[in-house]
Amino acid sequence: MSSSSVALDTELATIEVLRTVLAHQRRHRDGACTGRICLRCMRFHLDSVRATMKRGAPIEFVLPAFPAKSPNPAKVLSPLPDTAEELALRFLNSLCERIADIYPPGARISICSDGRVFSDLIGVPDEHVTAYQRGIERMIQRIGATHLSLFTLDDVYTGAHHDEMRKVLDAGYGYDHADLRSEVKAGGHALALYRGITRFMLEDQLTPGYTGTKAALQRKCRELAYGVISRSKAWGDLLGELFPHAVRLSIHPQACATGKIGILLAETPDSWLTPWHSVAVESGGTFTLMKRAEAEQAGAQLVYVAGKPSYYSLAPAAELAPWQRLCA
Ligand SMILES: [Zn+2]
Repeated sequence: MSSSSVALDTELATIEVLRTVLAHQRRHRDGACTGRICLRCMRFHLDSVRATMKRGAPIEFVLPAFPAKSPNPAKVLSPLPDTAEELALRFLNSLCERIADIYPPGARISICSDGRVFSDLIGVPDEHVTAYQRGIERMIQRIGATHLSLFTLDDVYTGAHHDEMRKVLDAGYGYDHADLRSEVKAGGHALALYRGITRFMLEDQLTPGYTGTKAALQRKCRELAYGVISRSKAWGDLLGELFPHAVRLSIHPQACATGKIGILLAETPDSWLTPWHSVAVESGGTFTLMKRAEAEQAGAQLVYVAGKPSYYSLAPAAELAPWQRLCA
């Protein structure tokens, strides 16, 4: 085979790999992405993916996600991962398998679980973060998701106390809250992210046992959200140093042609619920994600797998809205 045809093959394979990933892109509703596969986003990542493929190395992805279960029992089953996480992990692994079909050295996704990074701000005990991390690790093993691995703050500051880890992260990589406030005030992506984080924090803290006023909780969450944003950015910067060749994925929608690719955690539709804020609901052979209270209100029945509460089952007669369908 001539060198020019090898180069062409590499180019076509690079494009095909990126098409596979971008088919599951999570975009800003009013972002600049166009077409089913956004060519501007593809061009942005083409060079780095091509360079990895020319070296014949596996394509590395980094995904900060899977922090811990929401502390609100009205949204989730327990502090441990369940079928909701399993569906997402299976999807991410299958994405890597599809890449390996195109490019035999394949792909790896490092799931950078960020629960330890901000558990003190989101009201999740560190023991629950530890249990969740171990649960994800065991789940990856059990389902044979060989392309996935878990990476946490515990792997960075081995042996340190959890508060100490966060202190060192803040000191080395933290952001000035006044600067973050100005960014949020300026609007755009920073404001959208701030609103999203505040909304999720409020929902998580508004547990059935909460006795204060909603307004007071709202104030508290708005304040703490800056801490969460600072730590998320700090974690992202640290990961950038630790995984310099990796393509960055994010569960949040991203602007067109930027450093990160927003990614959905399921086969198709634009579901904004994450596995750690919800429960899996099976209906007529199809899984969807719902808040636990909503699943129970709809009459779904809890299903145990290997003695553990795992997901809900709903009689197919109850039609789900298209946005609620997660994967077939
Ligand atoms: Zn784009």
